[in-house]
Order: sequence, then C-alpha cells, then structure tokens
Amino acid sequence: MMKINTMVIAEAGGITYFSLPCWEKWGFLKHGFSSRNGGVSKGPFVSLNLGFRGGDRSEAIHENRRRFLGLWGKKEEDLICGEQVHGTEVFLVNESFAREANGQIPSTDALVTAQPGMLLGAFSADCLLAFFVEPSVPAIGLAHAGWRGTCMGIFDRVVNAMCLNFGARTDSIEVLLAPSIGACCYEVGKEVLDILSASPWREEIVLCPGTRPGHPFMDLQETNFNILCKAGIRAENIFRSDYCTHCNQHLFYSYRREGGGPTGSQMGIIFLNQGGSK
Ligand SMILES: [Zn+2]
Repeated sequence: MMKINTMVIAEAGGITYFSLPCWEKWGFLKHGFSSRNGGVSKGPFVSLNLGFRGGDRSEAIHENRRRFLGLWGKKEEDLICGEQVHGTEVFLVNESFAREANGQIPSTDALVTAQPGMLLGAFSADCLLAFFVEPSVPAIGLAHAGWRGTCMGIFDRVVNAMCLNFGARTDSIEVLLAPSIGACCYEVGKEVLDILSASPWREEIVLCPGTRPGHPFMDLQETNFNILCKAGIRAENIFRSDYCTHCNQHLFYSYRREGGGPTGSQMGIIFLNQGGSK
C-alpha cells in the first residue's frame, strides 16, 4: 500500500520531482520539490539544475526553470524567492511586495503568504527546505535552513509569522520537510558544536555518534521536527521524506558530496492556486 504521509516520486513532462500525496487532495494548494533529472545542464550540473549559485550556464538554468515551473503552468518571472543567507528573516509576501526586488528578497531565508498566485520558491543542495500550510486560512510558507538557521530557530519564526499575520493556528499548520542531507552524512565539527550548544533550541538538537572524536553527525530532519513540535505543531502534521541528498547521487545535487566544488540546486515551490477549492 502506498504511504500517503511521505513524499513520493512523480513524473511529468520528462521531469522527476517529489510531492506529498495528502496535500495533492487540496485544490487550493500546489507544491513540488525537484530532483536533478529532466533538464539540459551538463557536467557537474546534470541535468535539472535550478539554481544560479554553482556556476552553471544561465541559458541552461532558464530552460530548466521553464520546464520545471511549466509543470504547474508557471514561468520564471512568477518566481519569488529569498536571497538565502543562512539567516532567520521571514518575509511577508503580499500584493504590493516590491516586484522591484526582481523576484529575490534580500537577506531572507523564509517567505509566507496568504495571497493566491504568489509563487514561492527556494533552493537547496543538502540544506533543508520546509513547506508550511495552514489549510483553514489558507496560508503558506517556505523556508530554507542548514545548521545555522536551524539553531537560530528559523522554522519557529515561520510558525510565528503565520500565526501573527494570518491568524493561523499552530494545531492546524502542516509542515513538509523536503529531502536534505541525512544524519548518515552530516558530520559537524567544533565551530558548529560551539554555536549549537548556545542555541535556545539546544535541547531539541539531535546529534548522533560520529566516527571521529568531537565530530558527531547532526540530524537536521529530527532536530527540526523537535523544534516544530516545541513551536506547537502536532507531530502527526509534520511530514518527512526518507531520502538523503548526499547518499542519492542519481536523484539529488549535494554540496557536501562535491566537496564544495561546482554543483547544482534542487528547488522547492509552493503556491495557493487561484480559484482552487478547499
Ligand atoms: Zn546520507
């Protein structure tokens, strides 16, 4: 029997992507998380690279975005994303939000909106993307976190922003954690541990024994699961995926696997469907 509470692989237009079946039932919501398959990029960027950071040819990235966003009838010009600086800034996207920002909001790692049609996007290549939905409003959010954003509580801030701005209720908010680097592959060192141990969420942070002394492995998914539960999200409303981006080379780009060398990015998108029913 197919599990409905975990992300599954879908395929459309030659593109492989991930989505959550129990969110597909809502006509008012659209979402997806890309794999690396189905695009035109070459070399280390093969093939569906959707991000500009790694140094891929821009023509290839534009074509990849056209293909991926086209699955939902969207264009690259529709995209609204944060600059992604490993901070905790949450940006409220509304009608007047500054199209002059040219689709990219400076110094921002999280976006929230209750405005239908606003296409929120975020990028990752090991970091964790979290999708948020409050179906009774409806309102949505999308946030990016590595260890730094995690220990500064960015997902907690998204929950707060949704409650404050949209009257969202924590016991109605549902959260989807996209594929990220797993505890199997995410070794951290002293500089990270020093900051983690000073975090207000240090009790929620999950570290697993490593192979070298002083270098445990961090579980980003479990840590953020705990932080979300502490923020009031019900455990059964938090959905996860079973994939590690570092272990699954055929499906994902991984910054760490490439040792910081050139690599592409996955993209997550979410939007409220104009005219979609609940
Ligand atoms: Zn792994």
